[in-house]
Amino acid sequence: MTGFRVTYATLSADDDELQASYTAASAAVRAELGAHHPLWIGEDERFGETFTTVSPVDTSVQIGHFTIADGDDVDDVVAIARAAQPAWAATPWQERCEILDRAADLISERSVFDAAALAWENGKSRLEAIGEVEETADLIRYYTHAMREHSGFAIPMERFSEAEVTSDVMRPYGVWAVIGPFNYPNALIGGPAGAALVAGNAVIAKPSEIGSYSGHLVYRALIDAGVPPGVVNLVTGGGEVGSALVHHPGVDGITFTGSSTVGMSIIQSFSSSHPKPAICEMGGKNPVIVAASADLDLAVEGTARSAFGFGGQKCSAASRVFVHESVADEFVARLVSRAEAIPATSPLDPGGFLSPVVNQAAVDRYEAAVADARHTGEVLTGGSRLTDGEHAAGFFVAPTVVRVPPDSTIMISELFVPLIAVESVGSLDEALERANAIPYGLTAGLFAEEQGEIDRFLEQIEAGVVYVNRAAGATTGAWPGVQPFGGWKRSGTAGKLGGGPNYLQQYLREQSRTVVVHD
Ligand code: NAD
Repeated sequence: MTGFRVTYATLSADDDELQASYTAASAAVRAELGAHHPLWIGEDERFGETFTTVSPVDTSVQIGHFTIADGDDVDDVVAIARAAQPAWAATPWQERCEILDRAADLISERSVFDAAALAWENGKSRLEAIGEVEETADLIRYYTHAMREHSGFAIPMERFSEAEVTSDVMRPYGVWAVIGPFNYPNALIGGPAGAALVAGNAVIAKPSEIGSYSGHLVYRALIDAGVPPGVVNLVTGGGEVGSALVHHPGVDGITFTGSSTVGMSIIQSFSSSHPKPAICEMGGKNPVIVAASADLDLAVEGTARSAFGFGGQKCSAASRVFVHESVADEFVARLVSRAEAIPATSPLDPGGFLSPVVNQAAVDRYEAAVADARHTGEVLTGGSRLTDGEHAAGFFVAPTVVRVPPDSTIMISELFVPLIAVESVGSLDEALERANAIPYGLTAGLFAEEQGEIDRFLEQIEAGVVYVNRAAGATTGAWPGVQPFGGWKRSGTAGKLGGGPNYLQQYLREQSRTVVVHD
C-alpha cells in the first residue's frame, strides 16, 4: 500500500489542471443541486416525505430534498438486506474484492465531482474535499488488501488424527448498518461500508442529514461497480432513522461515527437481546503539547492547521494546547499572528482554507464559548462572526485563540468550532496529566526536540492516534494504511483503528470447524 496519489499531506493548491477541473466540476454540481433524492431499498427507488438541506457556504443554496425513511421503509430495507446477504457471503471473497476495488477506482475517477459536491454540502475546502474522497477510495482499497493478505481469513488448523479436518474461518455477521457524521460524509460512509461488504455483510447506509448528497454519491459508486442492490442500500433521514436501525432486531452489526453522546446511547442499547458488534467512533478534545525544547515554527504551523482547518470540525481537530511556560508567550503570540493571517477566502476558491461552521447551532455554540471565554478568561484573537462580502451568506466565524481557566468547559467539551484554548504548564509531566485528564482520547500531538520527552509522550499519552513534530497537522490528517485512525476512552469503542491492520476483522466472526471423515 504505497504510492498514494493524493493525500491530505501531498495535495497542493498549485496544481493548475486539478484546479481547472475542480472549477468545472463545481459548476456541474451547482447545476444539479436542489434535486429530489429517493431511498434505495434493494431495486426499489422510493420517494416520500422529504427534508431539505442548505449549504453552509451560502444558505440560499439548497443542496437537495432527501426522502425521510419511515418505519415501514426501515423494516423493508432490513428484510431486503437479510434476503440478499447469503448470496453475497457465498460469492468468493476474491470476487467481492474485485468489485470493491472497482468501486474504489470509480470513486477516484469521480473524485473531483464528488469533492465539489462535498464542498457545497458541508463547506469543506477544495483540497480537503478531494482528500476526503480519495481517502474513501483508499480505505476501501486497504480493506480489500487486508482480505487478500489474510487469504479470506480461512486457515487450516492442527488436527489430532488424520480422520479430522479442522479449520478456522472468519464469517460475516449478516446485515450491517453504517451511520455516518456530517463532517466526513463520504469517507465515513464509504470506508465502513467497504469493510462490511468485503467481509460479506449486506449494508444499510444512513448518512448524516447534512451528508446525504455525499451518501448518494458513494452508494452510486458501489452500485456502478457491481455491488448488487439489496446488498447495499441507502436510507436517509435524521436521528430517528438511525435509532430505528439501532433498535431493529434484524440488524446484526453497526458502525456509527458521530458524537459521543449518541455513540454511547448506541453502545448501551444495541445489544439488548444478545451481544452484537457496535463499532462506535466518537468525539474528541484533542490536545497539543508544546515542550520547552520545541521547534516553534513547526508547533505554530501544526497547531494552526489542526485547530482551524475545516472550521475546527474534524474529529481530530486540536482544541487544547499545553505549552511550557518558558516558551508560552512567544508561542501564543505567533499562534495569534498565524490565526490572523488566514485569508478571508471561500472554501470553494482555489487554495481557500477557511471553512464555515456547519449550521446555526454551531454558530451559537461558538458565540457562547466566546462569551464564556471573555467572561472567565481572555479572547486573544477572533471571537466574532464573519459577515463581510461572500461570508455574509454563510456560517463563517473567525479563527479564535482563547485563554481560560483549567476547569472551564471550553477545556473539557467538544465544541467543533475553530476555537483553541492555550494553557501554560510547568513541565511535560503536567502537560501529560492535563492532556489525559478528560474522558476523550482520540488524537494528540507533541512538539519537542528531546528524545526522552518524545518517548515519555508516546508511552503516557492516552489517545488512539498520536503525532510528533508534525507541521502538516499537529493532531489531524491521518491516511489509510499510513496512520490508522480511531479513538480510545470516550472517543471510540474499537481499540482497532480504521485504515489499519486490525480493522476488517471486526466485521467478521470466527468459526472453528472440525469435520470427522469416516471411510
Ligand atoms: P451526531 O452524533 O449528531 O450524528 C451522527 C449520525 O448519527 C447522524 O447520521 C445522525 O443522524 C445519527 N443519529 C443521531 N441520533 C441518533 C440516534 N439516537 N440513534 C442513531 N443514530 C443517530 O454527529 P455529527 O454532528 O454528525 O458529527 C460530528 C461528531 O462526530 C463529532 O463529535 C466528531 O468528533 C465525531 N466524529 C468522530 C470521528 C471518529 O473517527 N472518531 C470521525 C468523524 C466525526
